[in-house]
Amino acid sequence: MVEYRDYYQTLGVPRKATDKEIREAFRRLARKYHPDVNPGNKTAEEKFKQINEAYTVLSDPEKRRKYDALGANFEQFSHASQRTTTTAGSRRTTNSPFDLGDLGGSRGTGSSFGGFSDFFEMLFDDSRRRRTTTASSATVEQPLEITLTEAFAGVKRPFEIPIEQPCILCNGTGHYRGTICFTCNGTGKVRQARRVEVQVPAGVADGSRITARVDGLPGTTTFVVSVLPDPTFERKGDDLYVDAPVPLTTAVLGGEASVTDPGGKRYLVKVPPETENGRRIVLRGLGMPRANGTGRGDMHARIVVTLPRHLTSRERELFEELRRLRSSANAANARE
Ligand SMILES: [Zn+2]
Repeated sequence: MVEYRDYYQTLGVPRKATDKEIREAFRRLARKYHPDVNPGNKTAEEKFKQINEAYTVLSDPEKRRKYDALGANFEQFSHASQRTTTTAGSRRTTNSPFDLGDLGGSRGTGSSFGGFSDFFEMLFDDSRRRRTTTASSATVEQPLEITLTEAFAGVKRPFEIPIEQPCILCNGTGHYRGTICFTCNGTGKVRQARRVEVQVPAGVADGSRITARVDGLPGTTTFVVSVLPDPTFERKGDDLYVDAPVPLTTAVLGGEASVTDPGGKRYLVKVPPETENGRRIVLRGLGMPRANGTGRGDMHARIVVTLPRHLTSRERELFEELRRLRSSANAANARE
């Protein structure tokens, strides 16, 4: 069982901490626990490793987002990936991103204290999972939020994924001409952004997974789509539910109501005479596109009768007359 790590607690910062607060907390703690100032102190070294790991995650927007998203789902996640994390042999040492220049340290690389926890490896090290398991569990997940309008039409979403590449100057050794490589700060790696364009198909369901290959990353990257709630439409499967306001006169006498689909196309709906408030009218084939490409779901328009306001005196007279007529009709009905 992999143990959950509270990286915020490790750095002593709130969950809402800014990048600057995180950086400052890290520097303060790193100065205190750095192995150079605590030679031979195992407790300090362990503490330093934890600080370093926490900073590695929280200083990287993508990693931080993934870590935050994990939060309450940790139990589930850890069960799902347990198989994949316990089978690997020796733990891979990850080069520390610790910026030695900041502290004026003299270590060549950070790798001597760069081993990260199982928790970290489980979350971020897809290469290890790939070596030991099948393709389906080798994937890295990226959340992808889209609006209902985007889900309706489909959307191409550009994505920047940070990847680590061996440093070109020092060939990944961390040393250059007898000193620490200044390009990678001795880590042997440099960070680059890889741009991918994710094609989200029309009619995509909330929770759908789209798999893509990212240059420079092993395995595949899975984008997990979440469709944001829409203020106008409620979606159930491929069907949409929407309110269609109609004035009282239209509801009583019949007429038309207008509804607009998430793509902005407007449709007229026939409203029969004496339509009750709340009645649903089904518009076949005007719902969400089906993700398998076979047409569209239905749109359910709910009639919402709106009452006239700010009546003129003439209108008020007519309503009063209507009331008299209705009450004598009701009285006549009651006598029968
Ligand atoms: Zn280098």
